[in-house]
Amino acid sequence: MANKEEIIEKLIKGEIKLHQIESYTGNVQEAIEVRRGFAEQVAGSSLTHLSQYSLDLPEALKRNIENPIGTVQIPVGLAGPLHLNGKYAQGTYYVPLATSEGALVASINRGCSVTREVGGANVRIIDDKMTRAPVIQTESVTEALKIKEWIERHFIELKEAAESTTRHGRLLKIDPVIVVGRYVYPRFTFTTGDSMGMNMVTIATDKAMDILTRETGAHVLALSSNLCVDKKPSVLNLIEGRGKTVTADIIIPREIVEKKLKTTPESIMEVNIAKNLIGSAIAGSIGFNAQYANMIAALFLATGQDAAHVVEGSLGITTAEVKDGDLYFSVTLPDLPLATIGGGTRLETAQDCLNILGVAGSGKVNKFAEIVGGTVLAGELSLMGALAAGHLARAHKELGRG
Ligand code: NAP
Repeated sequence: MANKEEIIEKLIKGEIKLHQIESYTGNVQEAIEVRRGFAEQVAGSSLTHLSQYSLDLPEALKRNIENPIGTVQIPVGLAGPLHLNGKYAQGTYYVPLATSEGALVASINRGCSVTREVGGANVRIIDDKMTRAPVIQTESVTEALKIKEWIERHFIELKEAAESTTRHGRLLKIDPVIVVGRYVYPRFTFTTGDSMGMNMVTIATDKAMDILTRETGAHVLALSSNLCVDKKPSVLNLIEGRGKTVTADIIIPREIVEKKLKTTPESIMEVNIAKNLIGSAIAGSIGFNAQYANMIAALFLATGQDAAHVVEGSLGITTAEVKDGDLYFSVTLPDLPLATIGGGTRLETAQDCLNILGVAGSGKVNKFAEIVGGTVLAGELSLMGALAAGHLARAHKELGRG
């Protein structure tokens, strides 16, 4: 076996590739160190902090990462208790949040204290599905229509094929099947148990496409078109939902709005209309909210969700109304791809954070989804209160700046 310096020399000369180091060291842990040594040469400095971790990177190499050199560290803060009256999440929860944005945890914490004062926020999952939409190329519009009809007529066979690849995935529907010129876009919609499901539904859809190809001779141009819609902001996902669709609301007596948020129900309602509704409309934004992405990103990073799905989690609509003098406030998140099994949730720090919430493993994803919805409500409420009270700049100055 070559020693560390010899391998780094070969890497610098381009004689071996980053992913080939394991075959020179014969040992994953040593390969990680050699690769980091090479990165140190590239950086021209030692990478002390990237090398400090307790994750089992050789294990992560099997499913979560290629060419590992270390880990990044993100501060994790705790907010709570958050009081929820969900179907699955009932009671109080401490919420781990990974972020480098000063003031975020404090802000969410303030929202959590409002949920306690009023005896809890309501939260429900109103839909649950994961989608994959291939694109099929045919010869002409007439051929495309024949393929669309074939798919609609053979749902049962396609469902059996798809479900033969998974114990937990279930094909609910193939809808819509859109024809654009000679292209056909069938959108496969599954339930995926406690996993987020993107690998699961990709494998299952691939199997169904094998049947289509065999029976019709159709050409699957790509297993993923952009009709899925994965990791992109989309009106389709806003309307149809993707992942978990979660909605949460709370009624806050006027005196608690005044005491905790230092503002009035009327001010929060006005800011919501002017900012989240009209402001978003004139910007052409489909995120009719103040900051869902902040809570989603911090929770996703802490709990090993796919970070690229923050773009989907940022969609949603906040409402605020004055009701009998009190504040009615709600958040609706149509597009939350979430998991308590699979993907990055197996990483050790993700398991720790899922354990803080009591949602690690099978049978827990619905409870997790409700906690995510409740956390978004707490953070959104706090920011809207701060904006209405004119406190935003001051809080960031005090908590976000050294
Ligand atoms: P996965 O880890 O690939 O699959 C989940 C696994 O858990 C399956 O093998 C499933 O078995 C098993 N499982 C055990 N208990 C389960 C339970 N209670 N509920 C559901 N599944 C259970 O994860 P995934 O959720 O399908 O995919 C997530 C990963 O996909 C992430 O790493 C993400 O970054 C990545 N991703 C992939 C694509 C893509 O196009 N492939 C796109 C975006 C993201 P059965 O299948 O037998 O049920």
